Amino acid sequence: MERILVSACLLGSRVRYDGGAKTSDDELLARWREEGRLVPFCPEVQGGLPVPRPPAEIEGGAGGAAVLEGAARIRTPAGDDVTDAFLLGARRALAAATSAGARLAILKEGSPSCGSLRIYDGTFGGRTTPGQGVTAALLERGGIRVFGEDRIPDAAAYLAHLLTARGGRRW
Ligand code: SF4
Repeated sequence: MERILVSACLLGSRVRYDGGAKTSDDELLARWREEGRLVPFCPEVQGGLPVPRPPAEIEGGAGGAAVLEGAARIRTPAGDDVTDAFLLGARRALAAATSAGARLAILKEGSPSCGSLRIYDGTFGGRTTPGQGVTAALLERGGIRVFGEDRIPDAAAYLAHLLTARGGRRW
């Protein structure tokens, strides 16, 4: 079966920095969950950060690739450096996806870990900028396609493509 790595907060887990979830009511996601296709994962918790925890942003609004290359750090509003936990969570996310055989992921948009098209700009002023989070960047380097929760139809099209490439098998 083609598995899909999914941000745990989209599936109702209360793992966000503020102790809440961002539960998606998307019908496709619900169907894939019933099929046993989803692999829930929270990179920040798996990287060792607590719930709740301070928010964090990538300095300068740099993308996750810059963090992976050591060119940018991730900090809380108080200036605490949480980069190492984010990197550990990203590596564990890639390991989880690889071990499940997942070739796509649906991740929460805007997060410094999970954002795939936009992240916050590092000023804690509520402004976003184009870019990826650290986990999204590492997954894509590992050949796993990442879609935000607002692009589930695109994820479905990619899943259909993968299934067709497997010789038309439904799973
Ligand atoms: Fe959700 Fe990702 Fe943030 Fe975890 S790291 S709370 S899965 S957006």
